[in-house]
Amino acid sequence: MKERGSFLHQVKSDLVSRRDELLQLIEEQSDKEGKNIGDIKDVADEVSSLTMDKLQNSIEEAEISELKLIDEALERIDKDAYGVCIECSHEIQVKRLEYFPYAARCIGCQEALEE
Ligand SMILES: [Zn+2]
Repeated sequence: MKERGSFLHQVKSDLVSRRDELLQLIEEQSDKEGKNIGDIKDVADEVSSLTMDKLQNSIEEAEISELKLIDEALERIDKDAYGVCIECSHEIQVKRLEYFPYAARCIGCQEALEE
């Protein structure tokens, strides 16, 4: 299975670089948060600052949950369990993995989960 090996190698390097990117984004956002508190107080618009907080939190949450997915995918690669559905143990389509490299479930199980 030489092809699978090089595919995994590619996925792993993609995931690792995406991981670095996300960590950097989260770090930048935390920096910004500290600097922007004064601006928000100047505006003195409680509603919009609340909305901004909410927005910022949800962005960070999305990034953190993506980080978690990436970590889990990297772990599955190390355990040689990558590309196998965690629900039904069938192989996940390569096309799906190319589009969504940290997919833990095949399309059928994912759809069943989201319904
Ligand atoms: Zn499945």
